[in-house]
Amino acid sequence: MSMRKSSYVIDVKLDSEADKYMLVHGYTGAIDVVSENVVAYLDSVGKQQPDGAQVSEATLEALKARGYLTVKTEEEEVEHVRKLANLLHQKDKILHKSFVFLVAYDCNFRCPYCYESKVLKDSRQWSRKVFTKEMVDKAYDAISKIGGDKRLHYSQIVLYGGEPLLARNREIVKYIVNKGKDLGYRFMAITNGYDLDAFEDLLTTDKLSSLQITVDGSKEIHDQRRIHYQTKTSFDKIISNIALALERDVEITVRVNNDANNFNELSKIEQLFRDLGYYGKGNLRIHSARLFDYKYNNRRLSFLNQLEYNKLHKEIAYKYPCTVSGIAQTLCRAVTDKKRINLSSTYCSAQTGSHIFDPFGDIYGCWEDVGNVENIIGHYDPVEWTEIKELWHYQNIAVSFDCVRCKYAFFCRGGCIAHEKHKRGVFGPGFCNSYPDTFHDATNLAYKKMHECVKNIDQ
Ligand code: SF4
Ligand code: SF4
Repeated sequence: MSMRKSSYVIDVKLDSEADKYMLVHGYTGAIDVVSENVVAYLDSVGKQQPDGAQVSEATLEALKARGYLTVKTEEEEVEHVRKLANLLHQKDKILHKSFVFLVAYDCNFRCPYCYESKVLKDSRQWSRKVFTKEMVDKAYDAISKIGGDKRLHYSQIVLYGGEPLLARNREIVKYIVNKGKDLGYRFMAITNGYDLDAFEDLLTTDKLSSLQITVDGSKEIHDQRRIHYQTKTSFDKIISNIALALERDVEITVRVNNDANNFNELSKIEQLFRDLGYYGKGNLRIHSARLFDYKYNNRRLSFLNQLEYNKLHKEIAYKYPCTVSGIAQTLCRAVTDKKRINLSSTYCSAQTGSHIFDPFGDIYGCWEDVGNVENIIGHYDPVEWTEIKELWHYQNIAVSFDCVRCKYAFFCRGGCIAHEKHKRGVFGPGFCNSYPDTFHDATNLAYKKMHECVKNIDQ
């Protein structure tokens, strides 16, 4: 049988080395650093090039064993990827069920980039509908039915909104958390942090143990973007609430929603936390998130595309977690742990098992689709499913003609389906979002980090 270069070889020239490439195999998960000669050899295999590059017998065997050389035809490889993608998808559907309480659709902020306000404006008028105790009990019944064996679903439940931690909803949040704690769950909340002080007694390591709070910059910038509907200002109260939560050992991720106008604010927020001594108080980290352009009619926002966003992070040496550093970490961990890279065929839990319970008795899968009744995947009173769930849970890279043939597929995982739907009106994987360029940057960063890891081990 004749040998050929696998169609799923990713070879990235390492910017810091004259003659080195990183090879990553798209479906075996192998990762290696090789010379230019090996890359030239791989390119020549199966072609009529008698004077082409040569490699030693040992290298040849390694190239075969790690999948870079294959006897499979192109179509056989595609079929292999399709089968593997479906198997991985099945596994994730069994192992990765997660549950979210969308406590209320209402919010006390009026942020110019809120995707929910856009969805909700075009949908039902949600008003101030909030969970009742009766509906909480029904949701927990549904969790035990849907989740099955506790070892097979996440033990952390997320509180989401609108704003999940509005002071006026304190009693029902307390009921959700206390009941969940008795059932063996812990909680995290995605909150704007404004009313957090009203939930002080829930801020403990066995209840509300983790928070994601958005701070968009120093006071002047933040208050222009995170607008409280009455006071119009929110910065000072949020910053003081972060201290309160840190003192109670709650883990905090401060999310900064970045467009071009506030990217430089990342370092200012960090400096502020240093000056206030917050890093010594507890577990605090800053995370940058790129704002997606949902065609907001707002001239105060200046959206970055993925490449512009990557470039800005590169300029500050990837100091804060971002897309590139996330991929680099995956590659780096595989090398330092001496394990193959974990592969996945789905981009997010909406394709496998996220269940977002709302106060109306409806269940959604996608976080950015909540409130739009067309996207209801099921109901929990009683538990029943709509065709939309099947549609979401059918999606993995195998169903896309392009993705299943793409060497990046098990890393990119087909991209965000909601964004693909918004950008191209197509429901399914295929939101490339400059993934090959992002992977290139990530590979170079991983190589740099690997050297740092090796150095540390040597010391
Ligand atoms: S489809 Fe996209 S927006 Fe929806 S939950 Fe997944 S990653 Fe988030
Ligand atoms: S979305 Fe694009 S980059 Fe990602 S797997 Fe599909 S074809 Fe490849």
